[in-house]
Amino acid sequence: MLDIQQIRADFPILSQKVNGKPLVYFDNGATSQKPQIVIDAEVKYYQEINANIHRGVHTLSQLATDAYEISRGKIKEHINAKFAHEVLFTSGTTHGINLVSNGFASILKPGDEVIVSSLEHHSNIVPWQMLCEKTGAVLKVIPIDENGELILEDFDALLSEKTKVVTLNHISNALGIINPIKYIIGKAHAVGAAVLIDGAQAVPHLKPDVQELDCDFYAFSGHKMCGPTGTGILYGKEEWLNKLPPYQGGGEMIKEVTFEKTTYADLPHKFEAGTPNIAGGIVLGTAIDYLNSIGFENIQEYENELLAYATKRLLEIEGLKIYGTGKNKASVVSFNIDGIHPYDIGSIIDKLGIAVRTGHHCAQPIMNFFCIPGTIRASFSFYNTKEEIDQMVEAVKKAQTMLS
Ligand SMILES: *Cc1c(COP(=O)(O)O)cnc(C)c1O
Repeated sequence: MLDIQQIRADFPILSQKVNGKPLVYFDNGATSQKPQIVIDAEVKYYQEINANIHRGVHTLSQLATDAYEISRGKIKEHINAKFAHEVLFTSGTTHGINLVSNGFASILKPGDEVIVSSLEHHSNIVPWQMLCEKTGAVLKVIPIDENGELILEDFDALLSEKTKVVTLNHISNALGIINPIKYIIGKAHAVGAAVLIDGAQAVPHLKPDVQELDCDFYAFSGHKMCGPTGTGILYGKEEWLNKLPPYQGGGEMIKEVTFEKTTYADLPHKFEAGTPNIAGGIVLGTAIDYLNSIGFENIQEYENELLAYATKRLLEIEGLKIYGTGKNKASVVSFNIDGIHPYDIGSIIDKLGIAVRTGHHCAQPIMNFFCIPGTIRASFSFYNTKEEIDQMVEAVKKAQTMLS
């Protein structure tokens, strides 16, 4: 059993008032709040060891380099990568996906196929469209059903020896659906395709085991898992990272530079050109330690309780419809109320201190599928409470009365 009040005390922002009301923060799918230990670690880095990494022989540079590499090792353990050099620091999920999609530009041929799912965030659609435009490859899409679940028979039918890449999210940001990625990875590998998993919405709720999943790439952001913005990780299997060309050229990523020819550094440095977000990379390790100290099993159990409670309470509201009714879900509820634009509800409940996301959630194809302009999305974290859900339900009812 988690002591939620004690956990909430770790997050200074949660005791704030917004618009004169206590903050109810249900926009965790967009970014999570940060515990004091993470905020302190960021300050401590700049106060005590700030220096550039992998360059100087001086003491601070060594300290900063060690802290950065210790963090990489921690993340390697956390996701169970085989080697630390398979763990690349990025600025976030978007960066990680673009690193991979750009790399495939030198591998794909006209007529090759890339499969994405209908549930993707724009950042796992657009880079692949750009890749297809550049290479003449063809983009194929796994459809969803009315519950927001992928139609697996249709996925099976899309696969062929032309399939070179399959990419999809672990958990959908717009609907909260948990995708059967293990099945998809197995099927994709059977035709020789590489698989990238967008784990942005998964890592706040669970601990991915990249070896057990056997995915080729797994991308995520630090800021959705209690870490700083501008941080992220791209896991890639060693053989794939060796095969892909570097994404950016610059300092740090070279072995030797002459004007005739440059040779690239070994992994992971080949993909880490320039001075990275050093503080952020170190502090992402702190955030992961924090989450592990609470325990992902505890987090999941409690968040499932919040999800069930919110689903039940929201469905008491007349005319309310939930999108994403599949069985396997993370703590996200996406909904609309008959005849009312989601933006109007969002604006009114904001005045009552409740922060939710309204709109298409960077997933317009899903909204098109359901023929709606967007939804109201409440996404819960382990620091949220049932009382807060009650407050949201009351606020939504009030908004409904005002607007109808
Ligand atoms: C947030 C999110 C992204 C993009 O993450 P950034 O941190 O903005 O790069 C990609 N995919 C999913 C599923 C997301 O939720």
